[in-house]
Amino acid sequence: MKDSFENEISRRRFIAKVGKGFVAANVAGTFLKAAAAKEVAAADSPGSKLGWAIVGLGNLAIHEILPAFAKCEKSKVTALVSGHPDKANKLAQQYGVNPKNIYNYQNYDSIKDNPEVDIIYIVLPNGMHAEYTIRGFQAGKHVLTEKPMANTPDDCQKMIDAGRKAGRKLMVAYRCRYEPYNKEAIRIARSGELGPTQVILANNGWRVTDPDQWRLKKDLAGGGSMMDIGIYALQAARYLSAEEPTEVNALIYTTPNDPRFKEVEENINFQLRFPSGILANCTSSYGYDAQSHYRVIGTKGWLEMEPATVYRDLRMRVHRNGISEERSLPALDHFTLEMDHMSECVMQNKEPLTPGEEGLRDLKIMMAVYSAAKTGKTVKL
Ligand code: NAD
Repeated sequence: MKDSFENEISRRRFIAKVGKGFVAANVAGTFLKAAAAKEVAAADSPGSKLGWAIVGLGNLAIHEILPAFAKCEKSKVTALVSGHPDKANKLAQQYGVNPKNIYNYQNYDSIKDNPEVDIIYIVLPNGMHAEYTIRGFQAGKHVLTEKPMANTPDDCQKMIDAGRKAGRKLMVAYRCRYEPYNKEAIRIARSGELGPTQVILANNGWRVTDPDQWRLKKDLAGGGSMMDIGIYALQAARYLSAEEPTEVNALIYTTPNDPRFKEVEENINFQLRFPSGILANCTSSYGYDAQSHYRVIGTKGWLEMEPATVYRDLRMRVHRNGISEERSLPALDHFTLEMDHMSECVMQNKEPLTPGEEGLRDLKIMMAVYSAAKTGKTVKL
C-alpha cells in the first residue's frame, strides 16, 4: 500500500510560523533537551537490549519501525517475519538481522526455539493481529501489537487471555502516549491550567486512493476510517479527559457508488459524554486530505494540537488570558520510545502503559459508535 494516513500527513511540512498575537515559547527546558541529545547518542550505546521480531514488512515496518531501532537503548531487531523472502532478505541485510532469523507465516511458530527473540511486534492488517498475537504467546514471546488491537472485542479478550496463560506481556502500539507533545497535552489538560475541560474536538482524516487495499476490506480492517484513524480521535478524547465515556451518538456518511467504499464507511462523526460533563466531538474520514487535529477547551483557556497524532512535526498552541503561545518540545521518535517502553516493562516486569485492556476498551467503544450510527440512537456504555 502506497498511501497511508500517517505517511501522507507527515509529508506536510507545518512551517513554524508564529502568527500575529502569538508568542513563541520554548517550554521544553533543559530536561527535555537532554532527552533529545540522549536519543541521538543512543545509537552508539551498548548495554542490554531485548531482541525483537517484526511480523509484517509493509509501509509502517519499513519506513518507521525498522529505522527507529537505531535510536533504541533497550531494543534491537533480531528477526523478521514476512511472506516475501526477497524483501525480508534485503531488509535483514540492511538492518543486520541474521538470515537464519527470517521466518514466513507458515514456520512462524518455530520462533519459539529462537532465544534471540524476546518480543514480537505485529504490524499486519488489523484482522490478523489476534491470530499472530496468540501464536506469538504460544511461542512463549511477549507481544506488542499495532492499533486497532483487533477487529472485535471478543478477539481482544482472546489475546489478553492468551497472554495471561503464557505469563507474557501484551501492549498495544499507541505511540502517541509515549512522545513528548501528547504527554505534555495530557499534563496540561489534566492540570486544571485551562480550567475544567468543557469540550474536546478531535479530527483525523486522510484520502484513500487505492480501492484494492486491505483497509477497505471488512475482514482485514474491521471497519473503515473509524478503525484506522477515528481511533486516534477516540484515544485523544479518552487520554485528554482521563475519563471513560458513558454515552455515544454517531452519524456515518459514505459517498454512494464510490468503488472504494463497498464494505466499509468513509466518514463518521461521533460524540462522547464523559462522567464529569465533558463532551467530545470526534470525526474521522477516508474522504479528504490529511487532517490530524484536536482542541481541548476549558473554562479559562484552550489547547490545540495540529498536527496532533502524526509521526513528526507536531505543533501545540496554548491559549490563556488572551494570549496564545506556541509550545516547542523535542521531536523524539515515537516508535523508539514505544518499543523501549515495552522492553523496559519486560526487563523490569512492569505493566505497559497501554496494555491489552486499553485496546479492548477502545474496541468496545468503537462497536458502540457503529451501533449508534446504525440505530440512530444514543448507546449507553
Ligand atoms: P501495509 O499494507 O503497508 O503492510 C501490511 C503488511 O502485511 C504487508 O507487508 C503485507 O504483505 C502483509 N500482509 C500479510 N498478509 C496480508 C494480507 N492477507 N493482506 C494484506 N497484507 C498482508 O500496512 P501498514 O500501513 O504497514 O499497516 C499495518 C498495521 O499497522 C495496521 O494494523 C495499521 O493499522 C497499523 N498502522 C499503525 C500506524 C501507527 O502510527 N501506529 C501507522 C500505520 C499503520
